[in-house]
Amino acid sequence: MNIDKDSVVRFHYTLKDDSGELLDSADESSPMTYLHGHGSLMPGLESALVGKTTGDQVEVKLSAAEAFGEREENAEQRVPLKHLGGARAWKPGMTAVVHTQQGQRQVTVLKVGHTMATVDTNHPLAGKALNFNVEIVEVRPASAEELSHGHAHGPGGHHH
Ligand code: ZN
Repeated sequence: MNIDKDSVVRFHYTLKDDSGELLDSADESSPMTYLHGHGSLMPGLESALVGKTTGDQVEVKLSAAEAFGEREENAEQRVPLKHLGGARAWKPGMTAVVHTQQGQRQVTVLKVGHTMATVDTNHPLAGKALNFNVEIVEVRPASAEELSHGHAHGPGGHHH
């Protein structure tokens, strides 16, 4: 079957920036599975996969604006250490999750003090064009349970 709304799609991918540096990847040891048409992927990536089927290789290039946005200057903020999520001990360069009124956001730790950290609130991939190489591994219809939850279950999907 071809990818369309309510398909469950399992895929492998590599993600590189414009200099060819590998930023992220997923293969059989860490598969990605998502429910198509429910906002699980970046819109530009999701729309590039419409109509593809098992075995297809898809190259997708997203501009920074289509991905995590342009880098903003003066995006440094001081945050209490206890508000940083994702690790117990912090060092400059690590990525943390901060809960804000707009939801979760990934930030990069710049400096660590006793109780406060200075973070850069730009997403770690802000300002970068993203080059995905996607291989579609499986396309199947969503189950009624997956549709009612709005996400895919099973390996690479949501676990309860
Ligand atoms: Zn669920």
